[in-house]
Amino acid sequence: MDLWNKEGIPHKGWKCIDIEDLAEGLDELDAEERKDYYETCEMCNHEGIRYVHIMEHPEYSEHLRVGCSCAERMEEDYVTPQLREKNLRKKFSRLKTFRKRTWVQNFNGNYMLKFKGYFITIMPSKYKKGEYGIIFRNKQYWKYESLEKAKRAAFDIIDEYLQQRPANGIYLPY
Ligand SMILES: [Zn+2]
Repeated sequence: MDLWNKEGIPHKGWKCIDIEDLAEGLDELDAEERKDYYETCEMCNHEGIRYVHIMEHPEYSEHLRVGCSCAERMEEDYVTPQLREKNLRKKFSRLKTFRKRTWVQNFNGNYMLKFKGYFITIMPSKYKKGEYGIIFRNKQYWKYESLEKAKRAAFDIIDEYLQQRPANGIYLPY
């Protein structure tokens, strides 16, 4: 039985607190293989959910991981959930572009990347082996447990900044 037909489960008044793309990091797999990683909507039991909307309700103790059409009904909003997926799809393609870039390791062991006019640096921790930090626009971000995780976080940091830059296009690199 799906939760839409179960009593005691609120059907309205949900809020989306996050959205995940389960295909992220599965670049090496083809479309068919990726399906193994997709989820079943916890609300309607529909299988093969790639974009998981994580829903919260003040009168329900657990979060529900659901697909777009259930998110629409739960939020009573037939615009925003699709928009969230669209934004995530766009972000995913920006991430692909970012991943094609080559990081250059400099003389002191830091990894540097120039992306859309900005430098971003990953540095190994001096104190803990295998731990990394990021520097972007004079700000430091810690602690990432692997170089891969740091690179992924670096994308989020620079992408967030680039997405928020002023509409007039005038912004300074530092
Ligand atoms: Zn559903």
